[in-house]
Amino acid sequence: MASTSKKRSNAKKERRPKRKVCNFCADKQPDINYKDVARLRKYISERGKILPRRISGNCASHQRGLTVAVKRARVIAFLPFVAE
Ligand SMILES: [Zn+2]
Repeated sequence: MASTSKKRSNAKKERRPKRKVCNFCADKQPDINYKDVARLRKYISERGKILPRRISGNCASHQRGLTVAVKRARVIAFLPFVAE
């Protein structure tokens, strides 16, 4: 077992990722269109998974809209459920 060294790593430069701004908010687009495949593609991984918010940087409401849009697009086969 490790000793009880509870020294806080007081690194001078803490990793603070730059505050990402939601792309949809920045664009002032009212909502996300599921037919906008080019746009939705930026928010899915190459395996076809939806990127989590911590990566995409979207705000909560837009991320929610995005997942709905991606799921709709999948159903009508604009986007893959899973890429082979
Ligand atoms: Zn937003």
